Amino acid sequence: MMAQYQTEATQLLNDSLVWDCHACMPLLPSYSVDALDAHWKAGVTHVSVNVGMDFNPIETIMQVIASFTAQLKQRSEKFVMARSIADVLEAKRSGRLAVSFDLEGSMMLFDRPDMVALFHQLGVRQMHLAYNRNNSVGGGCYDTDSALTPVGRDIVHAVNQAGILLDGSHMGERTTLDMMALSTAPFIFSHSNVKTLFDHPRCVSDRQIDACAATGGVIGVCGVNRFMGCSEPVPDVLFEQIDYLASRVGITHVGLGLDWMYDLHIDDNPPGLDRGYWWPNLQSANSAVANDPYAPNGQGPMQVFHPSKIVDLVAVMLKNGYQHGDIRAVLGDNFMRVAGKVWG
Ligand SMILES: [Zn+2]
Repeated sequence: MMAQYQTEATQLLNDSLVWDCHACMPLLPSYSVDALDAHWKAGVTHVSVNVGMDFNPIETIMQVIASFTAQLKQRSEKFVMARSIADVLEAKRSGRLAVSFDLEGSMMLFDRPDMVALFHQLGVRQMHLAYNRNNSVGGGCYDTDSALTPVGRDIVHAVNQAGILLDGSHMGERTTLDMMALSTAPFIFSHSNVKTLFDHPRCVSDRQIDACAATGGVIGVCGVNRFMGCSEPVPDVLFEQIDYLASRVGITHVGLGLDWMYDLHIDDNPPGLDRGYWWPNLQSANSAVANDPYAPNGQGPMQVFHPSKIVDLVAVMLKNGYQHGDIRAVLGDNFMRVAGKVWG
């Protein structure tokens, strides 16, 4: 049934610029960035890779940035550090994978807006400001809904000024609405799903979706089963998310942020991390699986949509009558448009 779309999907994917707005490697300086080969093989042009969350010590974040940057440079036949849109276009032209860094949270800024420009110099091109829990800047999605704080307002300005994508994933509703009202640049949810389709704290409300679109921004559909209420994140489930967003706010505001997590079995958490605090739905803080966040609520183990299945997602979009231009918009043109405005 799907076979008839497979050839067309493969061709279209090859011709497209593909932007995966979020992926994770273990935050260990010893980890090899060669893992990203999987993104490259899947036909991805640019991937944003996490280099630090709110609970990671600055020592870890700095060593990870140093190591990943050096490794990417050493493998320049495969990878390009994406510091501008021109680098992403060059990666596409030369058949390589462009990589930029993102931060999940803002505690590594120590309430200093001037730290934002420093992280920009280190290759960070995207950040949200609170990881699941409230901090001095604003609200996380697993905490009391709270406003953006005065220092948070300064940090939003600094993120705008630095040319970094301002992201609202993992954050509480009220803070993201405050950020969107304040931001002078298009706002993104790099890896988030639709709360109306599945009521999970990590998902975003229609109000957030509408406000994001109003900034000219993009919502990157996340591939984690637990945020979509399914056991297996098959292409049809991701398509439901895409189709909902496209119907609600238009195809120009929909993208992909699959959140593929490389080697999830490797425990890269800081020693003694209170995992039940950072991932409140965790079934047991002493779970045998080191990294198993977001609560098995009858859905079985965590599963994430692998980048190699993007081609199948394209086939599903074709089957549902999506035009090539619209598919290309979702695959990467929308995030390219926003990054073009923000990164310069
Ligand atoms: Zn995340």
